[in-house]
Amino acid sequence: MGASKVLLTKKQIQSRVRELGQSITYDYAGHELVVVGILTGSFIFLADLVRTIDVPVVIDFMSLSSYGALTESSGEVRILKDLEMPVEGKNVLVVEDIVDTGLTLTYVVEVLKKRRPQSLKVCVLLDKPSRRKTAFVPDYCGFVIPDEFVVGYGLDYAGKYRNLPDIRILELKKAKGQG
Ligand code: 5GP
Repeated sequence: MGASKVLLTKKQIQSRVRELGQSITYDYAGHELVVVGILTGSFIFLADLVRTIDVPVVIDFMSLSSYGALTESSGEVRILKDLEMPVEGKNVLVVEDIVDTGLTLTYVVEVLKKRRPQSLKVCVLLDKPSRRKTAFVPDYCGFVIPDEFVVGYGLDYAGKYRNLPDIRILELKKAKGQG
């Protein structure tokens, strides 16, 4: 097992994150934004992204767990840690590391919509559309990637590799992510 094949370099990530921040700044000009990070995988992406957003930002986090095989969500998602703040009437931007089957983010959007935010959008760094099981489409996406298990820049395998500065393909069949 190893995480040797670099899919996205630190430089590619940095430049794309800056572009995403510029789009978000443009779209939310004159408004305050509540950025909701989905723990744990989004923490590095979120930290870099919010520093490129030039509108007032409030940051909150949610932690979720899904039952079933760890390689993919079963669709049964549970909230382990909820937001600290109400989002009614707020402009909410959910930030996630990767969308794969789409089950996790479909659930998050469903839950947050019920809290009646002013607006609700989702920003993902990575999108693996080939494995989608729902109609979920992110509003902002860093990179569309092939169906490979990736680690680094916040993404883990069994809790490891989150600290890699780039995104690499984990050369292991049946790799298991833990969020
Ligand atoms: P979903 O299948 O619900 O769209 O994604 C669920 C979660 O699976 C993601 O938030 C992420 O934590 C994990 N995941 C999906 N694909 C990968 C991957 O390639 N690498 C890692 N490390 N986690 C992944």
